[in-house]
Amino acid sequence: MIIFMEPKAAKEAIGNVVRLIEGEGYRAEIVQGEMQATVHVIGIKDAHKTSLETTISAQLGVNDVKLVSEPFKIASKEFPGADKVVAERGNISVSFNGKNAVMMAGPCAVESEDQMMRSAGLLSALGIRIMRGGAYKPRSSPYDFQGLGEEGLKLARKAADKFGLLYVTEVLEKADLEIIAKYADIIQVGARNMQNFKLLEAVGQLDVPVMLKRGMNATIDEFLLSAEYILCQQTKHQVILCLRGIRTFEKDTRNTVDLGSLPVIKRRTWLPVVIDPSHAAGRRDVILDLTKMALAGDANGFMVEVHPYPEKALCDGKQSLSFREFADMYGQLADLGKSIGRTVQ
Ligand code: PEP
Ligand code: MN
Repeated sequence: MIIFMEPKAAKEAIGNVVRLIEGEGYRAEIVQGEMQATVHVIGIKDAHKTSLETTISAQLGVNDVKLVSEPFKIASKEFPGADKVVAERGNISVSFNGKNAVMMAGPCAVESEDQMMRSAGLLSALGIRIMRGGAYKPRSSPYDFQGLGEEGLKLARKAADKFGLLYVTEVLEKADLEIIAKYADIIQVGARNMQNFKLLEAVGQLDVPVMLKRGMNATIDEFLLSAEYILCQQTKHQVILCLRGIRTFEKDTRNTVDLGSLPVIKRRTWLPVVIDPSHAAGRRDVILDLTKMALAGDANGFMVEVHPYPEKALCDGKQSLSFREFADMYGQLADLGKSIGRTVQ
């Protein structure tokens, strides 16, 4: 940790910071520059970094505090042993990380048996192994379709089992976790719950793969620290990060696609990062372009909304691809993959 003192910080302020650090059992070294002093702290325990940073930032004469190593531990590149996330059920096993980009697709919400069977049939015909479909939906309006709940989970599981697929679905609250865990192979924590810390801990305790979506107003640091909340409850450390767009002033897209954060996040963590172009863009005409960019940008996968009848979808029809559009996109991604040494499945 490096503490930047204000240019005119008094000797007493610097002394106070040093005493505080030494009082916590760490070593402090003052470097007196021409304009300002910096205090370098050595040997801080990982678990203590954020709280110490908060305390020191509040001291008189302190201008800024920077952590030299990551504020999280298990999510960091240095964490020994962890290098991939694997979702599995029976003899189906899908590994995130490496040259293959994992395609997860399906409707926004589970609506009917026919819809899920058709969707699962399409995915399986294309060789895709993970289906999505929300049974508990976080809707902006209380008057909108809220999802079928457990009935939806049952329909999705039935379709997934019939076609040999894994199933990813969102949890909205702790009370539903047990039931969702019965049906899902990957549990999704959505953007709106990214900082619901009690939910993150509870989902971590189940020790199943979790897909965490970036909050629409969250910084990369906050995103990774939220992942750490889950990881530190798990013994197998299985978290997939999902970029689904952030809020900006832009109006042409539902959110602003934060593809620029992909290489930045990948430099900081070993966790796989997938792109959800559907919620990012909010419109189906740019999904193909965005998935291509993500594949070339080394994303570990995608989550894409596809619906047998997008124009009749109860949720997010505008951004959902038709089966034909989806199959076409999937073919184009495979072609692009060939030229850059990647596969998509
Ligand atoms: C979803 O994937 O169904 C969803 C609601 O996404 P987000 O949390 O990114 O809005
Ligand atoms: Mn949706």
